[in-house]
Amino acid sequence: MAENCIFCNIVTGEISSDMVYQDEEVVAFADIHPLAPVHLLIVPRRHISSPAEVDKEDAHLMGHLLAVASELARQQGLAADGFRLVANSGPNGGQEVYHLHFHLLGGRSLGRFV
Ligand code: AMP
Ligand code: ZN
Repeated sequence: MAENCIFCNIVTGEISSDMVYQDEEVVAFADIHPLAPVHLLIVPRRHISSPAEVDKEDAHLMGHLLAVASELARQQGLAADGFRLVANSGPNGGQEVYHLHFHLLGGRSLGRFV
């Protein structure tokens, strides 16, 4: 737990959120500034500061995050039309919150990106 980390504080409930999923390793909640009709953040409970800090020992957790993202996409009715999963890393990646997370975006055409 990193004390000044917004997402660590959301994980513990210190900061409130619109939580849509919780298990032992992962939580998911609505992004406070949604960029699409569905915009969820999928977040490990353990503090990893960014995608740049992930290593092979995190393989299970990373797979779990993706499986939760996929489950939520199906639950939110995004599977047929499609969706986007994004993990920003560092200044050039536009990362604002330095606690690893995937954005799950869907519910409209998101256009071409990369
Ligand atoms: P990133 O640029 O990938 O680090 O994205 C951080 C995301 O966290 C942004 O889309 C913010 O809107 C979102 N965010 C920041 N604070 C909160 C919060 N308290 N609750 C929900 N989402 C948040
Ligand atoms: Zn954190």
